Amino acid sequence: MDKISIVVPCFNEEENIPLFYEKIKEIMEGINAELELLFVDDGSSDKTLEIIKEYQKSDGAVRYVSFSRNFGKEAAMYAGLRETTGNYVAIMDADLQDPPELLKEMYETLLTKEYDCVATKRKTRKGEPIIRSLFARLFYKIINKMSKTEIVSGARDYRLMTRQMVDSILQLSEYNRFSKGIFSWVGFKTKWISYDNRKRARGKSKWNFWKLFAYSVDGITAFSTVPLVLSALMGMLFCFLAFIMIIFIIVKTCIYGDPVSGWPSTICVILFVSGVQLFFLGVFGQYMSKAYLEIKNRPIYIIKEKNTDKK
Ligand code: UDP
Ligand code: MG
Repeated sequence: MDKISIVVPCFNEEENIPLFYEKIKEIMEGINAELELLFVDDGSSDKTLEIIKEYQKSDGAVRYVSFSRNFGKEAAMYAGLRETTGNYVAIMDADLQDPPELLKEMYETLLTKEYDCVATKRKTRKGEPIIRSLFARLFYKIINKMSKTEIVSGARDYRLMTRQMVDSILQLSEYNRFSKGIFSWVGFKTKWISYDNRKRARGKSKWNFWKLFAYSVDGITAFSTVPLVLSALMGMLFCFLAFIMIIFIIVKTCIYGDPVSGWPSTICVILFVSGVQLFFLGVFGQYMSKAYLEIKNRPIYIIKEKNTDKK
């Protein structure tokens, strides 16, 4: 019999876990496969871990990994994938924003062997703050222009994958993880299904605008080096402009002499060019800091305790 592992990253989800658990149990009754329900407690400070342990006592399908502190959802997903043993693996948020009832359809699609992965995306960004949705759209435009890896707009992390695809994902052990890119980078045939945006069952989202902004910068630097090329191109353009200007000034001085003038335009040029320089110094800095973190080779997460089948 097939075994479906569901990875559930949880950060302070005490209110949602019971709802989530009941729902999953109900859904799995309609699916003819064994279940491994793997909760990853991402350093929660509420009762999340206690509740998971309670379920684990009475239910043999429940497994957990608990981090020593909050390492972020990316780290939680990675840890979860590493600890799973099922031949099909799903990732699902604990807040029921990822409709569990799609799981049956996803599983049946993979059973046909035609696809390696069934992924989900949101139909619309309805219910999202306008500014956030504006920036999100912009982000997908930019990253898809800059990166060869396709990042699907509105894609969720919610998906069901074959063991082969999961093992491939685990080979990418980079520190700066951007899963939406990694899922696409490893390839395999993916079927997309879309659904209407849902509200979180309980509690608040852990993401705010600036966290999302930083995450999008991570995404771009992780999957594209185009910003670096851009800075070189800008540099070349300005060298060219400077060259033309120098010739122009020499010729002008020879013909008309050099009455003292042009102070404001000089300042403007200096300000503009140093602005461009600083901006691209910042871009370099981004890549350098990422490389620095990567070289340090720190673990992506630290497990405090766990109860999984993986040796
Ligand atoms: N999450 C996590 N670590 C974090 C932040 C979030 O494991 O540092 C989990 C969270 O518990 C939830 C999922 O990631 O199951 C998605 O988080 P959230 O609902 O806050 O994000 P949104 O749905 O607003 O994108
Ligand atoms: Mg959510």
